[in-house]
Amino acid sequence: MKESNYNLIIRTKNRNKVIYNTLYGSVTLVPKSFSFTNLKKLKPEVKNLLMLNKHLIPDEINELDLIRSQNRLQRFNKETLELTILPTLWCNLNCQYCYENKRKEEMTTRDIAAICNFVEAKSSNVNTISILWFGGEPLLRVDIIETISKKVSALAKRKKINFKNSIITNGTLLNEKTRDRLAKIGIKYVQITLDGPPEIHDKRKPFINGGATFKLILDNILKAIDYFDVSIRINVDDENIHSVRDLVDILSSLNLQNKLYIYVAKTENVLGVCESIGGACLNDIDFLNKEKRILQYLQEKGFKKIARPSYRPDYCTADNVHSYTIIPNNKIYKCWHLVSDPKEQVGTLSGSKIVFNHNIYKWLAYDPIDDIGCRRCRYLPLCMGGCPKIRLEEKRKRCDNLKNSITKFIEFLMANTR
Ligand code: SF4
Ligand code: SF4
Repeated sequence: MKESNYNLIIRTKNRNKVIYNTLYGSVTLVPKSFSFTNLKKLKPEVKNLLMLNKHLIPDEINELDLIRSQNRLQRFNKETLELTILPTLWCNLNCQYCYENKRKEEMTTRDIAAICNFVEAKSSNVNTISILWFGGEPLLRVDIIETISKKVSALAKRKKINFKNSIITNGTLLNEKTRDRLAKIGIKYVQITLDGPPEIHDKRKPFINGGATFKLILDNILKAIDYFDVSIRINVDDENIHSVRDLVDILSSLNLQNKLYIYVAKTENVLGVCESIGGACLNDIDFLNKEKRILQYLQEKGFKKIARPSYRPDYCTADNVHSYTIIPNNKIYKCWHLVSDPKEQVGTLSGSKIVFNHNIYKWLAYDPIDDIGCRRCRYLPLCMGGCPKIRLEEKRKRCDNLKNSITKFIEFLMANTR
């Protein structure tokens, strides 16, 4: 018997200790005197509990081999075809922190036919097709969403394949008519961004002509809430972090606690965004401390749907071999955040096939576990090396911050979920 490599020992507020295993997700409360240094001295009942929760594992198990294998199986699994489709690169808003090079490029009938042919060609070998609509503002071309979704849905029915359909939208066009159209084509999950109470949100996310959007978006959320799983993303930086509580108060006064999933995300420095908003981006430590307080406030206000860290055998669409982002002119990318950079295109959809260029190899060859620090890291199952784009582009990891955040997050969960 030996200690798992993925135990974290965390002190709780009442000075007990909690062992949290990042690979198996198990949690065990132990006395403050507990340590793994002398396993022979453990009482049999304690030892049994630690074995049951996999804090102690048989000597022959190599956990790194297990993680590496699951990472490869997940990343190179071809049973799920995952597409992020941007029907248009145009948007009706002018968000302060937008990193996309907004332009009036839209999918043509030829693009639509090529996507449908591609999905049809792949459908013989998959058991799930998952589409996420993104943009620009995808609802500007709800007709394209409808055309492709109907075709894929019919194909999925015919071939007995699961079809998952979801959308990220700014919410301004999600009126009753559009809501009904989306519900009819099987959209189940909708993500919308609100950046604070009206006075803050409207400054950060105005219409292109400068008009306010908060009231319209909130009205549309209320109309959509019984039709879809709705999640609210709050993008935060120095400009609006102080106002998040006011937004939470507004949502809680509407009794949305059991209906909405809310999360905060840091405004990221993609393509010089932080400079364009006057250096307002938060550093990781600041963000994590503030995020913790926001999560605490959400819990106090009764919001139930809060993300917890869990084992992620792969990271995102970018490191997954059967996952593609498709933009107008059938250009293919791996990472959503790079669609404005032509140098990052990895291929083109032509006929029913993707013709790849050499850029694809950096994503396929990427392996977080190559890094010696990650191989030895207790946080690996939760972090999986972090965002592949940051690792590849900036040749750096953000691990100190990640470790700090995960520990803080677990402390927070321990304090609030018992
Ligand atoms: S590589 Fe990073 S930025 Fe790109 S999709 Fe993955 S997590 Fe997002
Ligand atoms: S990036 Fe850092 S925190 Fe993440 S697994 Fe690697 S060493 Fe650990």
